[in-house]
Order: sequence, then C-alpha cells, then structure tokens
Amino acid sequence: MRIAVTGGAGFIGSNFVRDLVDGRFPALGAEHVTVIDNLTYAGKLDNLADVRDDIEFHRTDICDTDVVTGHLAGHDAVVHFAAESHVDRSIDTGLPFMRSNVFGTQSVLEAAAAAGAGRFVHISTDEVYGSIPAGATAEDAPLAPNSPYAASKAGSDLVALAFSRTHGLPVTVTRCSNNYGPYQNVEKAIPRFITTLLAGGDIPLYGRGTNVRDWLHVGDHCAAVALLLGGAPLESVYNIGGGWQMANLDLAHIILGELGLGPDRLSFVPDRKAHDARYCVDDSRLREEFGYRPEHDFAKAIKETIAWYLDNRSWWSE
Ligand code: NAD
Repeated sequence: MRIAVTGGAGFIGSNFVRDLVDGRFPALGAEHVTVIDNLTYAGKLDNLADVRDDIEFHRTDICDTDVVTGHLAGHDAVVHFAAESHVDRSIDTGLPFMRSNVFGTQSVLEAAAAAGAGRFVHISTDEVYGSIPAGATAEDAPLAPNSPYAASKAGSDLVALAFSRTHGLPVTVTRCSNNYGPYQNVEKAIPRFITTLLAGGDIPLYGRGTNVRDWLHVGDHCAAVALLLGGAPLESVYNIGGGWQMANLDLAHIILGELGLGPDRLSFVPDRKAHDARYCVDDSRLREEFGYRPEHDFAKAIKETIAWYLDNRSWWSE
C-alpha cells in the first residue's frame, strides 16, 4: 500500500510514520510512505530524522489543493493528521484553526479524490463531543464543541463525512482521547508538566486541577489507526480510548512522584476559558469490530515518556 500522511512531522503523525517505516503494521504492506507537512511551529523535520531516507517528504500547505493533488498521485490511502492542534492557541485566535482544520480538510479530500486514493482516514478528537459529567460518548453522540479548536475539528468531521457521502470516497473519522508519548510539543499538558519541572519551574495547573481526561499512548493510537486503515467501512466513525482516566491534579502528582518532587511544585493558574470538565469516549465499536486493545500501561508508559524528555533535552529546550 502507498500511504500519504498529512501532518507527518508533528507529534502523532511522526510516530505513525516511524511505525509504518519500521514495519510495525505488516498487514498494511506499506511499500511507500509520503509525508505532506508545511512545518508550522508544531512540525519538525527532526521528528523524522531516523526515517528521513525512507520516506518522500513535501513541505506543502494542505490548503494548496493542486499541489497536494500532485503529491497524492499514485497513493492508495491518505491518513490526515495535519491540523492546528492546541486549544489555548485557538482561544487566542481561531482563524488559523478554521483555515487549516476545516478548509484544509476539504482541500485534502478533494486532492485525494482527484488523485484516485482509495481510502481516507481523518484524525479527529474526543473534544468534538464537548464535556460530559459522567459515562462515555459513543460515536452517535451529538457534537457539542466548546473551544474554537474543537469546533474546527467538529466542522472538519462533518466536511469529511459529507465528502464521503457525496463523492463515494471511503472516509473513516477517528475521535481519540488525549495522546501522550515521545515527540509531543511542550505546549501540551504532559510534556509541559515534565519539561517545566526539569527546567526548575512549577507545574501550571488550570483552575483546581479537577478536569478529567482519558490518556491514550500514541503507540496505541497509531495501532488503532492502522487497524482502521486496513478496512473500516465507508463513511464510518470510530472512537479510540486509552483506558486511563484521571484528573489533571492526579496526573500532576504522578509526574511529581516520578521526578522525586513534592506538591510545593504545583502552581494553580486561572482556568482556561470554557474549559471542558471531562471527556471520555466509548470505544466499544473499535474493540468489537477490530479487536482493538490499548497495550500501554500508564504507570510504565509515563516513566518511559519522562525518560524520553530527560534524554532529549535539546529537542525541547529550544
Ligand atoms: P501537532 O500539532 O503535533 O502536529 C500537527 C502537524 O500538522 C504539524 O507537523 C504541522 O506542521 C502540520 N500542519 C498544521 N497545519 C498545516 C497545514 N496547513 N498544512 C500542512 N501541515 C500542517 O498535532 P498532533 O498532536 O500530532 O495531532 C495530530 C492530529 O490528531 C490533529 O488532527 C489533532 O487534532 C488530532 N488529535 C490530537 C490529540 C492529542 O492529544 N495530541 C488528541 C486528539 C486528536
């Protein structure tokens, strides 16, 4: 299979590309991998340094449909990770989010169809469902986004599904929990907590730290995407959970404990606007239809993640 990955120089995309090149998903038979990424502040070619000779790379804006169409020629599948991805930035200004996430998704869909791609996996987020006080959201739950980021992703999901319905392109939308693991930009919670402590600062916790998130290791996320790429039905939606729910305060205590530090290194900061209290997805569809099981144990994987940031100071200290 010839696979094109948008946003492949970002956190999750680069992990997915590495897994493809390393042959982690033999069922896909990935014979050629192309990355399309315009290297925003969040994308680094360094993230792909160890596989750079094994992939075709194009520094291209996904909104440039004609150029993307040319890059996609001859590809069997597109995995669309490229997006503006940080909620706080979207609160500062939502415009780049609407451009890259909504317009950009339409652009990649049109390019994929024009190039004759046979499969399209659109990577979305649990944030499109908004906050839920209890229980878990299934794929047919209403979309109720609360941040400009989440609204742009909800818009992109609808764009992708409508494209599938209209033009027959086999599109699968995935909605995953919060990811963690190596190569994640330090603006996101877990790397922010770790690197702030390593740099001698205190963990900045929004509000009282009561917001609950489900944590999904990036390796489990990539494995789920590979399963779906291998054969999800036309115009389908799948949730991907990690199975490790916790309040941000509990997460902060785990990271403090791993680094041998105490609660005096916590700093409560004014809450994020419209901060969602809790997300939790019901991923039983993926489990039942594809046998998905997240393999990473949080207690072990968080140690490995901390070790990665300790071993790769130059990657994040810039
Ligand atoms: P990231 O910010 O680390 O990477 C995004 C990548 O997209 C970067 O390499 C960037 O250069 C590229 N990009 C952005 N705009 C582009 C454009 N206009 N043209 C070309 N490339 C562009 O993001 P991530 O954390 O790896 O997230 C990947 C996808 O997964 C996103 O769609 C995000 O919404 C989704 N997601 C992420 C999480 C998470 O916890 N990180 C959770 C749920 C869903």
